[in-house]
Amino acid sequence: MSAPTDIRSLTLAQLGDFVSALGLPAFRARQIFAWVHARGVTSTDEMTDLSKALRAELAERIDLAPLAVDAVQRSSDGTRKLALRCHDGQRIESVLIPTADRLTQCISSQVGCALGCRFCATATMGIRRNLTPGEIVDQVYRARALLDAEREAGTWPPAALPTAPHEISNLVFMGMGEPMANLDNVLAAVEILGEDHGANFSSRRITVSTVGLVPGIETLGQKNRHVGLAISLHATSDDVRDDLMPVNKRWPLDKLMAALRRYPLPRRRRITFEYVLLAGINDTPADAKRLPKLLDGIPAKLNLLPYNPCRADQPDLLRPDDAAVEGFAEALRRKGINTTVRKSRGLDIDAACGQLVLQNPPRAARAPAQGAASS
Ligand code: SAH
Repeated sequence: MSAPTDIRSLTLAQLGDFVSALGLPAFRARQIFAWVHARGVTSTDEMTDLSKALRAELAERIDLAPLAVDAVQRSSDGTRKLALRCHDGQRIESVLIPTADRLTQCISSQVGCALGCRFCATATMGIRRNLTPGEIVDQVYRARALLDAEREAGTWPPAALPTAPHEISNLVFMGMGEPMANLDNVLAAVEILGEDHGANFSSRRITVSTVGLVPGIETLGQKNRHVGLAISLHATSDDVRDDLMPVNKRWPLDKLMAALRRYPLPRRRRITFEYVLLAGINDTPADAKRLPKLLDGIPAKLNLLPYNPCRADQPDLLRPDDAAVEGFAEALRRKGINTTVRKSRGLDIDAACGQLVLQNPPRAARAPAQGAASS
């Protein structure tokens, strides 16, 4: 018999084809899809509205092995980092980030990353492989299972955030990897997550962040322009961007910004620009002057990310002090740019932006996370 099918990676239409090839009626696809994607089951035994015989037959033909949760780290600020293991032993990370009124999950799209940004920890891993659609969506289901368990244990909502939502409200592809380098699987995952028979996550609640791979941006615009788009800009000149992000040599600022000006953005939506602030490198008055010109004509919001130090091999990269960050933000606000400063979350457990990297052995196995006792 052929190898079991990874049905978690199938869209509802593809599952329909799979089910009809087994000679089953179409409604079975919706039933099975709901078990896998709405309820997050990990074996056919749990699909109690299917006959025992059918469950046994399916068990032979499908692979529903979930990502293994290797470790959960809990930050004193309520952030949770999940270390997850794929069937082939590769490890990825995903982060749950609560605020008083939102619960955002940051998900990974690849094991490692090929883009080599100088300020990012994941870059040091290199690229190992793409995640499948099933591995992408299962990050959400494992996080939901964690939330269920935490609610049961009374540790959710976290002590630091008593009004934090119980359900995940937003998904951001800001974990490990470059989503536009694995766009087919990312788009399939978005489609799967969006089904109302499944997780029912509308595209509007999902954001894809990219270093600026122009063909990927164009494909996203054609295939699903309702997904939020975030661009890792990080510099206002090609010189500086070339130095920080090798991808800029292939897709320099003029090409990137031209693609964004053409982007079929739905009305009332904005493109998010992420900008890692590096002291003396990209936070100068000249940058504050060039940035509004670069964004001119694009419905934009700017998210400043003070650098989270994570690259001992790049000693020239430094986090600006808070006054410098505020000064830069104010200069942009004065020019009419909608500017926020992203508060680093989960710093005490290496869960903040750019800090996701395979720890070998996992950090949790070596020492308890700081702050674990507070949640
Ligand atoms: N590869 C995609 C998805 C990662 S998103 C992208 O680059 O957009 C993660 C965000 O955190 C990106 O904007 C990334 O540039 C930023 N980041 C990476 N390293 C960082 C660091 N050390 N401090 C702050 N932000 C960082």
